Amino acid sequence: MATSKNREAIDPEVYIDGKWFPKNEAKVSVFDHGLLYGDGVFEGIRSYKSLVFRLEEHLVRLWESAHTLMLEIPMTMKEMETAIVQTLQRNKLTDAYIRVIVTRGVGDLGLDPAKCKCATIIIITDKISLYPESFYRDGLEIVTVATVRNLPEAVNPSIKSLNYLNNILAKIEAKNSGCVEALMLNHQGYVAECTGDNVFMVKSEPGEKSGPVLMTPPVYLGALKGITRQAIIDIAGRKKLAFREQILTRHDFFNADEVFLTGTAAEVIPVVKIDGRVIGSGRPGKVTQTLRNAFHQITSKEGTRYKVKS
Ligand code: PMP
Repeated sequence: MATSKNREAIDPEVYIDGKWFPKNEAKVSVFDHGLLYGDGVFEGIRSYKSLVFRLEEHLVRLWESAHTLMLEIPMTMKEMETAIVQTLQRNKLTDAYIRVIVTRGVGDLGLDPAKCKCATIIIITDKISLYPESFYRDGLEIVTVATVRNLPEAVNPSIKSLNYLNNILAKIEAKNSGCVEALMLNHQGYVAECTGDNVFMVKSEPGEKSGPVLMTPPVYLGALKGITRQAIIDIAGRKKLAFREQILTRHDFFNADEVFLTGTAAEVIPVVKIDGRVIGSGRPGKVTQTLRNAFHQITSKEGTRYKVKS
């Protein structure tokens, strides 16, 4: 029989609109437009040792995504921060993955968002399920897929919306090819990002005296403005590693010295093969490792601190 202590572990409480519910009772209406139309926004956030990493940046991105959708979040950023921290505390989580979801709310079967009177706010906190250690030790093999990244003129990839079908179609293609991630191009054939991660490359160029250059595609080509992406750019600045946002092709990536992906869940993950082409030495590179170590250092020091009672 479950004791109250291990009930907590198997039944984390989920926040919905100001109340907490056991996981099995955390439900939303089938008329919620988040379900009916993917009409809503979300964030994936992480906490390390009771520090929520770059919480303000995540909340700003959430509010900006909602603003573009003309979706009013019925609380302040400060109230959202409090609700997130309270959910972590109730679930006694010091190292967590935090999913914040804001849906358009309950409406009728038509598209009209004006029929939805109030947005639904959901906060799920859970233990982080880590990627296998082999991904980091040996690096990933990824493939370019035929599904192009959403046009910025259609559903701008900078909006972190609940409509992730573009990414899911790409993920299916990657998995059909035996890979866990897909390299996605934009409609012009330039590299945009992966299905749930931004992408970087490292290259030593002839005549470049200051050492290797770190490069990533500009987000306007069709990518999410990743929080981890920005953390890596900040670290590169501090380490005096040359960095450029640059339009990049598959050819550029095939001929890079190192490639890696960044994301809240994956953190910094090396890529050693793209479309059958070996990248650099075929092993995770030094620059990737240095940036990964530095990233771990900042996640264990920086962030919004909260207390969990044991
Ligand atoms: N691109 C996409 C499409 C994503 O969904 C994500 C988040 N999983 C990222 C990039 C990485 O963003 P972040 O570093 O903010 O998690």
